[in-house]
Parts: sequence; C-alpha cells; structure tokens
Amino acid sequence: MAKISINLATGTLQQPEIIAGIDLGTSNSLVAFIDPDKQPRVINDTGKGTLVPSVVHFNDAGIPLVGNEARELLIRDPSNTICSIKRLLSASSDDVPVKIQLGEKYYTPLELSAEILKELRKRAEHALKTPVNKVVITVPAYFNDRQRQATKEAGRLAGLDVLKILNETTAASLAYSSGLDPAVKKTIAVYDFGGGAFNVAIISIHNGVFEVLASNGNTAPCGDDIDQAILNYWMENNKLDSASIISDKSLLQQLRLKAEEAKKALSSQNLFNEKAGDIWCTLDKQTFETLIAGMVAETINACKQALQEAKLPVTAIDEVVMVGGSTRIPYIKAEVSEFFRKQPNKQIDPEEIVALGAAIQADIMAGNRYHINLPDEDVQVDNTTSSASAQNLLDEARAEGEQLAYLAGQFIERHRFVLTSMDISGTRAILDKLRAALAQDDTATIRSLTTELNEFTRPFAARLLSTTATASNKKTE
Ligand code: ADP
Ligand code: MG
Repeated sequence: MAKISINLATGTLQQPEIIAGIDLGTSNSLVAFIDPDKQPRVINDTGKGTLVPSVVHFNDAGIPLVGNEARELLIRDPSNTICSIKRLLSASSDDVPVKIQLGEKYYTPLELSAEILKELRKRAEHALKTPVNKVVITVPAYFNDRQRQATKEAGRLAGLDVLKILNETTAASLAYSSGLDPAVKKTIAVYDFGGGAFNVAIISIHNGVFEVLASNGNTAPCGDDIDQAILNYWMENNKLDSASIISDKSLLQQLRLKAEEAKKALSSQNLFNEKAGDIWCTLDKQTFETLIAGMVAETINACKQALQEAKLPVTAIDEVVMVGGSTRIPYIKAEVSEFFRKQPNKQIDPEEIVALGAAIQADIMAGNRYHINLPDEDVQVDNTTSSASAQNLLDEARAEGEQLAYLAGQFIERHRFVLTSMDISGTRAILDKLRAALAQDDTATIRSLTTELNEFTRPFAARLLSTTATASNKKTE
C-alpha cells in the first residue's frame, strides 16, 4: 500500500500513503489493507469479527451508530434503525428519489451509505494508526453507471477519495489468483451468493490479464429471500395473521432475525427449535432444503446462462470460487459442485474474499503490484459504450498521462546528477512515446505508456527515497 510519488511542486519524494479496500455489502461491510508481509488482511479492530453489519441507527440527538450494536437495535428500536441500505441506493434515482425517515429526520441512501463508510474508515484508521483518505470500493457487477457514481459520491460524503470502483466478482478473482503462477491460464467461475444479491461471473486470468467473459444473476434470489421463505413457512405453520405481524415492526424484525439464525444453525445441525416472543420457530434441515431448492435452482440456471454467454462448456472451468455468506449452506455447496463437476475452492473465507481483493486492487493503485491488468469497471462498459463515455475515458487517460509526463520530465531534470544515464535515457524514450500518443488522442496507448513510465521510474524514485531517508536520519543523529 505504500506509494512513492514525486511531488510536482518541490521535486521531492512523498512518503507512503494508505489506500484501503472496501466491500460495501448489503448485509455486511468490510475494510482491508495490505500488511507489512504484503498479504491482504481484513481489519478486525474491535474484537467483534471482521464483518461490520451494514446497519445504521440514529439516537434522539441524531448521532449515528453503525455495525453490530446497530443491528441489535433493529428489534428494540426499529423505527430509528435501517438495514439493506444498498438496495435503496440502487433503487433510488433522480426521477425516483428515496428518502428514509429515521426518528424525526429524513436521510438519503447516499447519506446512510456514507455513515457505513465513515465507520469503516474509523476502524481502519484506528487499527493502522494513520489517516486513511483513499479507498477502492467494490460494487455488484450489475450496478449501472448511476449506481457506481452514487457509490463514489457516498465515499466523498464520508471524506474519502474513491480511487476506483471494482466489481465484487472481479475483486474475488483477484484475491483468488494472488499467489498463483500468472503464466498458468485459468478460467474460473465466481459464484457469489450474499445476503442482498446473487451474481456469477466467468473470468479468464492469464499473465495478469483479467477478462470477464460473462456475468449473470441480477434477478436471482439472495440470502434475504431465504430468510423471508423461512419466515413465511413459520407464519403458515403457526397460522399467524400476516397483516398483524407486518404491522408489529419489532416482532417482524425479531422473526426475521430468528429466521436468519435458523438458516445459519442448519448449516451445522439438523434441527432448529426456538421461540421468538410466544411464537415457536421450528425448522428441520430437510424442510429447509425443500424451501430453498427453487431459489438455488435459479442460481444454477444463471450459471448455465453465464457459460452460454461465455461460449464455454462446464468442463472449461478450472476452479469455482465461492463468495458470500450464503455459500456456507451445505445444500448450496453440494448443488454448485454437482453442476460444475468439481469441489469449490475453499481456500479463502467467502465473506472476506471481496474485501481482500479490493485491498489488492488498492495495492495495484499504489503502484506496488505490476503485471496485473484489470478491466475498467469504474464505468459499466458494455458493447454499446457511448461516445460520451469513450470521451470520458480519453479525458481521464489524458489528464493522468499529461501530469505524469510533466512530473517525470521535471524529476529527471532535477535529479540528473544522481540518476544514471540509463535512468535518464530510458525515461526520455518513454516520455517521447507518451507525448506522441497524447498528441494522437490514443486512449489505450496513453494508458499503457503511463503505466510503463510509472514502472520504469519507480525503482530509482524508491532508491532516491531511501537515500533521502538515510540522509535525514543522519542529520537528526
Ligand atoms: P452481502 O454481500 O450481501 O453483504 P454477505 O456475503 O456478507 O452478504 O453474506 C451475508 C448473507 O450470508 C446473509 O444472508 C447471511 O444470513 C448469510 N450467511 C452467513 N453465514 C451463513 C451460514 N453459516 N449459513 C447460511 N447463511 C449464512
Ligand atoms: Mg457481498
């Protein structure tokens, strides 16, 4: 995560800065970073685990509370507590603005998402003992440009500079592939069954190039739907009047949370039998599997469609990477491995993998990992990319290319007496090519030469930094 950059104004080298990776999930959010051993790690600062429930509560004074404590208040103070904010964020638009009343005040989904981001930032800063201003945030692959922009805006509201928006499935593939031999080509299926959404992506990885061959699942069911199915089952079994349950917000939340508890318990036991208020909540594993069979079949159908879109047979998949808390359900694991005809990869925690990938992406942004080429997912790119967004991409590439060309030119001038002739001539050669590409408005070449220039200059920038550090240490001795 350490980025060594040249300060344009002074020609000096700036100290490392932190870029964190954030999985802003519907059910849970996480923040990760790269540790000194270069391994991605999710922050577990409070001793309550790595997952921060994406739940926000406001007290009478309007002070927000985010995470586990807020989740507990879903039952005791439901009218001041909100969950599944990401659904609202994706549902609201300029035409249909969403405002949520909590207590006396109204909040937009953007403001509520910002509260979650602020909490993640706070945890990261506390754990790392350093300011965290820059982040990479993941979003579902089906998010459109407006939803991606809204996520960036939420980051800005939280005082964060969102350097990149990355698809959750791509982040997972990045985490999966780190540490593997890049020369070995892999085609993987990322099966992401979370609380708020399902998504499957077929991704090919070769020599650090990630290509999303297909992505599917937006309309498939998700973990919350499983909880709802259990809740419906209990209402029917106990002959409960749905209208009166729905009008009792606190009881409804209690039953919902019980349903989730039952679902999780049945991942490791055969019977769940507990009470919520006066209501018996009983569920056995077999009934549970019957309840979810249709939903799981829909996700398998989405996998079939993704393979068709990628024009690949199921045998072409080298590895199935499981993402999302719902993949802990044994029935789901079994159905997925039957369809793909192989055991899913279990190496990385399915609830942490997206955040870990975001941290690796952050490390790439910081210039610490080379030879990785991810698709541009800040905007949703499809085959009908408009000329307006093509122009945006060119503008962005130009701004970055021009700035770096200027910086690098200044830098070699300023340090010409300490740099080797190879450093200087090599930099000049790439600079010439970059300036030519800038004159021709060639987005792809500008981008690749900007990267090349960055990579070429980094070793001697790093060398100079260590010299400067040694010199200043000597001075203070
Ligand atoms: P999101 O990406 O939507 O934030 P997560 O990946 O955090 O979702 O997964 C949360 C979902 O996983 C919730 O619906 C939760 O109930 C479910 N889940 C977590 N652990 C288990 C488990 N052991 N068995 C079944 N479902 C689980
Ligand atoms: Mg998720």
